[in-house]
Amino acid sequence: MDVIINYFSEMPTLHRSILLIGGLTIFFLIENAAPLFSMKTYSRTKHTGLNIFFTATTILVNLSMAFLLVKTAQWVATTGFGVMNWMSAASISIWLTAIVGLLLMDLVGAWLAHYVEHHVKWMWQFHVVHHTDQHVDTTTANRHHPGESVIRYIFTLVAVIVTGAPVWMIFLYQSLSLILSQFNHSNISMPKWLDNALVLIVCTPNMHRVHHHYRQPYSDTNYGNIFSIWDRVFGTYAVVDNEKLVYGVDTHMKKDEISDIGYLLKIPFLPYRPHIKYEEEESL
Ligand SMILES: [Zn+2]
Repeated sequence: MDVIINYFSEMPTLHRSILLIGGLTIFFLIENAAPLFSMKTYSRTKHTGLNIFFTATTILVNLSMAFLLVKTAQWVATTGFGVMNWMSAASISIWLTAIVGLLLMDLVGAWLAHYVEHHVKWMWQFHVVHHTDQHVDTTTANRHHPGESVIRYIFTLVAVIVTGAPVWMIFLYQSLSLILSQFNHSNISMPKWLDNALVLIVCTPNMHRVHHHYRQPYSDTNYGNIFSIWDRVFGTYAVVDNEKLVYGVDTHMKKDEISDIGYLLKIPFLPYRPHIKYEEEESL
């Protein structure tokens, strides 16, 4: 445990960059070798370019808000506020404290942030950009409007306060969160037995893809990022045959709109488009 704590306490920026690019490259290669949906029906270069643009804006937002994270981590360390601090004050083992810390960071920083984005209209207006992707793959992971990146960062700050997370936990969480997001968006066809085993603990591609189906109620399920437990606990867990999924969001299906960066950036400031109410309930 000391090795983990020491490494993540002073994780070099270079290693964080390697994680981002390395993760993308590995999942990109697996997608080529074993894709679930064919990637020959659209321009992958254009699709990747657009998603990399939004990944770059996410990095910029995160860098410009990093001082807030440092200040928040300092505050919880000096005041002793938050669950991890309370657990160590009660002499609870560091392993248990770390597991609870990671689960809490994932709950508040990812699951809750995501759930709220789907239920508060003005936040959805930003998050919908992520859902406009009609060819979900590993590059979709960071396809976030810069406004959404700010919203998510604020949730991360709240997560640090609730968790009482020290710097090493923040870096460990962010590293796992990045890799898991790249993994669960990737267009890879995994053996069922492997998916069934992994999904007991983490959010797999089979699980997260359901969330990218173009219409409700499936788009309002499987909000998790690292751990699958939160969707099970809050009753938002859904299992669907992935081959039947149609990616995108019913309010924004026009290809010329959703492949235009300028238009995507404008969406939050355009009139809100409610989800389509269908005559028949869909059962996949
Ligand atoms: Zn979503």
